[in-house]
Amino acid sequence: MSRVDRRSGYWDRDKETMSGPARERYQARWLAELVELAWEKAPGVRRRLEHAQLGPAQLRRPADLARLPVIKKSEMPDLQRMDPPFGGFCTEPLDRIRRIFVSPGPILEPMGPEWSAWHVEACLYAGGFRPGDVVLNTFLYQLVPAAHEIDEALSLIGCTVVPTGVGNTDTQVTTARAVGATGFVGTPSFLMTVLKRAEEMGGGRLAFQVAQVGAEALPESLRRQLEEDYGIMTRQGFGTADLGMIAYECPEKSGMHLVDDAIVQVCDPQSGEPLAVGRIGEIVATVNHRTYPMIRFATGDLTVLTDEPCPCGRTAPRMLGWRGRADEVTKVRGMFIHPRQVDEVAARARGLARWQVVVGREGHQDTLTFRAELTPGAEGAAVRGVVEAAIRDVMKLRGSVEVVPAGTIPEGAKKIADERKWD
Ligand SMILES: [Zn+2]
Repeated sequence: MSRVDRRSGYWDRDKETMSGPARERYQARWLAELVELAWEKAPGVRRRLEHAQLGPAQLRRPADLARLPVIKKSEMPDLQRMDPPFGGFCTEPLDRIRRIFVSPGPILEPMGPEWSAWHVEACLYAGGFRPGDVVLNTFLYQLVPAAHEIDEALSLIGCTVVPTGVGNTDTQVTTARAVGATGFVGTPSFLMTVLKRAEEMGGGRLAFQVAQVGAEALPESLRRQLEEDYGIMTRQGFGTADLGMIAYECPEKSGMHLVDDAIVQVCDPQSGEPLAVGRIGEIVATVNHRTYPMIRFATGDLTVLTDEPCPCGRTAPRMLGWRGRADEVTKVRGMFIHPRQVDEVAARARGLARWQVVVGREGHQDTLTFRAELTPGAEGAAVRGVVEAAIRDVMKLRGSVEVVPAGTIPEGAKKIADERKWD
């Protein structure tokens, strides 16, 4: 396949470029239908609604969802044990289910009779896949759903899928050459492994032009190498086994657009209340998946959204990367801070040997103290200035810096020590 335009165009222009109010109307329409369907056919969903004293009439618009308490991923195994196999969350009888997946937990997920239930086509098209691509799908085809979701979406786009699965590097290389594979799906590290192995085996470069990677972090240095050294347009998405893919990168790779068939709210990890755009919080999603309608499903992952316009023309808000796990956050003066932010602050200063943030209480005010052990020769005053500015910038909070003697912060100490006493 010669070079094709992988950057312009949309899978579904009408949906991907709709205005904010139009998107809200679109989502309100499918949400109302989905809740009606689940109320009738999914007793697990109905139990949740009844428990919150809600009926379908109270959940008709995205904003109404805040009234329903979230369901946590960690609750799923017990719910499924009590009401096997799917905890009452499946709207279809078992004889209409095409596949049953088994994710760690264990949590079972049904693949229903309908096609395109996960809405992944727009994500892959935005990531550069085009009709006629021959794609090596190296995700795991056993037990878990990701490989199958992507497999189906690639077929719907008009690609040819080679389900090579995980591992067998030499076979991957030989196969990629034999079929002239132009696309790759899998982890970024495995893509690099396959490319390197191809070089060792001789016979010239592989023909990959586009890759959708996931299941692990994609460092920008690795992406640059894949794009600049190998000429492979490399994009990623965000998803879970329960929800499917709910956000994806476009050609601009400046965050991940939210899927129009998912209502994603960034919420206070403790109360479940939706937060304003720009605040860090837990990803809580409702997906338009008629067989397995997850409504207000809390992922345990943190992110922050932006609604700044994107030059690609897609109008959906974007998720600005993964910001850690919700169970590791600490709330300070109304803002959540996360161990990763502590390291982000530390990375901006030179001369730090060991560090820890201590959250305390003075009167009715939370205090944030960045405790620092310095490397020999480091200048305390200089470190203090840089770190205080970094705290304001990264955590949006005011904090003080306390330089402590070497050995004060114990080995393996928590990144955030919460020393507040509430009695
Ligand atoms: Zn974009």
